[in-house]
Amino acid sequence: MFHKLGANFIANLLKQPFQQEDELCLYLISYASLIFCVVIHLFFLICYLVQRIQFFVFLNCGSLLVYIVVFLFLKGKKYKPGGFIITIEATLYASIWAYMCGISSYIIGYFLLIIVMLTLFPYGTANIRRIMVLIILGVITLLGLYGAHTPPPIVFSESFNHFITMVNIYIMLIGTIIEISINTFVQFIISGVKEGRLVELASQIYTDPLTGLYNRRYTEIYFNTLKNQDQHICVAILDIDDFKQINDTYGHPCGDEILVFLSHFLQSNLRKTDRIFRWGGEEFLIIMENVTIDDAQSVMDKLRSKLVETEIKTKQKGTLGLTVTVGVAPFDLANPDASIEASDKNLYIGKRNGKNQVVI
Ligand code: GH3
Ligand code: MG
Ligand code: MG
Repeated sequence: MFHKLGANFIANLLKQPFQQEDELCLYLISYASLIFCVVIHLFFLICYLVQRIQFFVFLNCGSLLVYIVVFLFLKGKKYKPGGFIITIEATLYASIWAYMCGISSYIIGYFLLIIVMLTLFPYGTANIRRIMVLIILGVITLLGLYGAHTPPPIVFSESFNHFITMVNIYIMLIGTIIEISINTFVQFIISGVKEGRLVELASQIYTDPLTGLYNRRYTEIYFNTLKNQDQHICVAILDIDDFKQINDTYGHPCGDEILVFLSHFLQSNLRKTDRIFRWGGEEFLIIMENVTIDDAQSVMDKLRSKLVETEIKTKQKGTLGLTVTVGVAPFDLANPDASIEASDKNLYIGKRNGKNQVVI
């Protein structure tokens, strides 16, 4: 069940329109910090109400008001100012506490939480975060010096101080674990997203955007995968007849529609193992594995005659007819260029002899 919940959470996260990885990181840590801080302040508020320590009741109410403002920032996707306010509030709260009660209740641990937050999460530029870390280190030093000489204005009972010290240690440890876990989780998601983008980019490089077919660039890679195979392979070049005239008569967008139609037609009428490439404008290269040249000719001729009988329904210009001429040749893995040239020569023989035919 947890596995499924986790998968759904990741899927929903990836659906969010994050501008960049940093934003995803800020989104997660901001909301986690907000929830964590609100829970802590509510807990303290109850403790101080029970202990009747008025100053800290007001201080925690003030902090909770600040977190309402933070929530409004996060809701408006303003993670950077939201996160910055969280950091400032936590620093001020811990400083005021340490000033009022001394540092004996392990309050210094909160500063560790804030420093980890500033180190791991991109709330501001690296320089701003460095300055913040230096300020916090300065505050810790001042509090240490001040605490060594001056008795604090508010003194907790020994048992309450002991309780609060334990709570503070837990908050510091759990908070740090949450921060590091979120950072690890975000890095995991980001690496997955980057990998996905690389795969997408690679597929864009090797596919034709109009038809979705492999393009000419992919042929070399594909031919390498065929190497060391002991089987008959044939190559065909299929060219639409009088396509220029179709474009001139019906317009370029209608020509595009026909190219898309033909690519679907080829995919659905050839075997899964036959590879189809958009070779040029209205030319398609087809590599057929495990066929003799006679089989290849008969497959191509069936395809050609089926196309002649097919009415192409275009969105733009109603129903149109289409013919193609195909040149076929045996494919020699040792010399792909010469094989393609041979099929190209056969294609032009077909064009010269009246088109709408298959030539081997
Ligand atoms: P043939 O029967 O001899 O092959 O004549 P053809 O008109 O088909 O051949 P030609 O080479 O003269 O013209 C090919 C046309 O294909 C010209 C070009 O505008 C068109 N074309 C190339 N790529 C695209 C494309 O992506 N979309 C559209 N609509 N047309 C294209
Ligand atoms: Mg043509
Ligand atoms: Mg052509």
